[in-house]
Amino acid sequence: MRLPSFQYLEPTQVDEAVSILADFGDRVKICAGGTEVINHLRRRLIRPAAVMNIRKLPDLEGLSETTQEIVIGANTTLKEISRSKLINREAQAVAEAAGQTASPTIIAMATIGGNILQNTRCLNYNQSGIVLQGLPVCHKRGGADCLAVPGSRRCFSVYQGDLAPALMALRAQCVLVKKGAARTVPLTGLFTGDGTKPLALEEDELLTRIVIPKTEGRQASAYRKFRVRGSVDFPLASAAAFLSVTADFLLADSCVVIGASGPAPRVVESAEALLKGKTPGAADAAIVAKKAFDLSEGVDNLTLPGDYRRKMVRVLTQRAVQAALENLKGGR
Ligand SMILES: Cc1cc2nc3c(=O)[nH]c(=O)nc-3n(C[C@H](O)[C@H](O)[C@H](O)COP(=O)(O)OP(=O)(O)OC[C@H]3O[C@@H](n4cnc5c(N)ncnc54)[C@H](O)[C@@H]3O)c2cc1C
Repeated sequence: MRLPSFQYLEPTQVDEAVSILADFGDRVKICAGGTEVINHLRRRLIRPAAVMNIRKLPDLEGLSETTQEIVIGANTTLKEISRSKLINREAQAVAEAAGQTASPTIIAMATIGGNILQNTRCLNYNQSGIVLQGLPVCHKRGGADCLAVPGSRRCFSVYQGDLAPALMALRAQCVLVKKGAARTVPLTGLFTGDGTKPLALEEDELLTRIVIPKTEGRQASAYRKFRVRGSVDFPLASAAAFLSVTADFLLADSCVVIGASGPAPRVVESAEALLKGKTPGAADAAIVAKKAFDLSEGVDNLTLPGDYRRKMVRVLTQRAVQAALENLKGGR
């Protein structure tokens, strides 16, 4: 399908980019790697008057570290992230998530900013225009009914991004800039939980960088993903686990996050209290996995049945916690 016509904009400075966002409002679409945006344009899921390519903004590139934190520019590609020694050492879950996203060609093109800020998905929404013309208009397209859960008053579309659960487990923050203002928010605060408008980003805001705080002492993390085709597929269930231990190997801190199980990645809140102060073991991973299962939504709106995907959230959570434990034994 051919692209619709639009005005093409290519700022070279952040100030110029945020001025464009302020002037155009919802009539401009930001394009980074374009692996989602171009698909959405072709399918006429979005119809912006202008598309702004942000890949010429030097301030959004690259990876760096201080003693306190790791800073990832929003335009850093998933390939750079998956291969980075720094990320593989300090944030294994993020490196694993980047390396398992989509396919090698998409990993080479796609940016971390675009990955985090991707839209939620549903079999009743991510279709070509011809298929959508034959379907009733669902909640996500502005209609009254959810086609996946008839009679429901909300949209059950699923957030299938790989990077956000891993970054949330590491308690990452993101820096959002608009004309004359900037704010730093925890990644958890970026998700509304509403499938019709899943991101709490203002239309004139630009994501410029992601900041991962460093942890004192020994820490490790892991990400596990379930997909049908290992060569190219969105997660149908996923889980990320972060663990840190004291010098005598008692759990000091932990965070477990599940993905692809609702309109936003979800922190398994009870995991932290369950694990704190313990010498972690396999039985603990199983208990946390049951909590993740209870938290996940299983709706028949992706390529595999919802009930099965929920069971896989449980399996993957257990595996992610166990993998983080293994990484801890071998980690710094
Ligand atoms: C075949 C296929 C398989 C895929 N599989 C996966 C998968 O397994 N896992 C997964 O997570 N994703 C998957 N995707 C979705 C997508 O390709 C990735 O999420 C990718 O990382 C998006 O990054 P991008 O830079 O190409 O984003 P873009 O397409 O450029 O942008 C995505 C969204 O983010 C916004 N945006 C981008 N950068 C910024 C910024 N700095 N500030 C504000 N807004 C911004 C854009 O406006 C747009 O709304 C797949 C896509 C395809 C086509």
